[in-house]
Amino acid sequence: MSPNKPMSNNPKTYALALHGGAGPVAGRNYDVVEAHLEKLARECETLLSAGRSALDVVEIAVAELEACGLYVAGRGSAANTAGYVELDASIMDGTTRMAGGVAAIRDFVHPVRVARGVMEKTSHVLLAGSGAAAFARSHGYEEVSDPENYYTVPVGVTAEEMRDSHAHGTVGAVALDQSGAMAAATSTGGTFGKLEGRVGDTPLIGPGTWCDDHVAISCTGTGEHIIRAGGAVSIACA
Ligand code: ASP
Repeated sequence: MSPNKPMSNNPKTYALALHGGAGPVAGRNYDVVEAHLEKLARECETLLSAGRSALDVVEIAVAELEACGLYVAGRGSAANTAGYVELDASIMDGTTRMAGGVAAIRDFVHPVRVARGVMEKTSHVLLAGSGAAAFARSHGYEEVSDPENYYTVPVGVTAEEMRDSHAHGTVGAVALDQSGAMAAATSTGGTFGKLEGRVGDTPLIGPGTWCDDHVAISCTGTGEHIIRAGGAVSIACA
């Protein structure tokens, strides 16, 4: 999302874009996903029109996309080749350029909320693996209590694909609020068939998520390609 007018001249403008990943298969029925995205967009619009910050709205949107199980993020994530789910997420505030991310974190319901915690409660930008989980636990972020039964197959994906293909999907939100501030957030379970410890673009500030005072970007696609291409920040600089 990139507003083409200086927002200071138009303080009542707000905007939002959501995405549910680059992995859809042509010909499949995505009615449930489209209805969900539309409902969520309207809820977020209500928040933005009431004056809620872009940062809050992208966090709320991505948290819902993670928890619903319809997308390859949070609840809809697939196990890696070692048999367990690792989650990546990040968030960035365009006004302050503050940012946070978590990589290869296990069994938290809302990785994007933990990413915001990294941004606001630490001096770091990215925490990974067991260290990210220890941080999240110590700050009381909601954990998945029963990982064996929590994760589910997202809409439009077969169980075989989750096991055997390199297909993928992810979720993201970008928003502009009435003060002219922008924010971006992205969350994923990564690519199907990924190796244990594999980290894509999503938790990386620069490749997967970027926001400044001109543009807010949340990427989706094969993370290895996005990273090699420079990702979101290279678009921002173009
Ligand atoms: N970019 C994500 C990753 O590589 C996957 C996706 O966007 O579908 O982990």
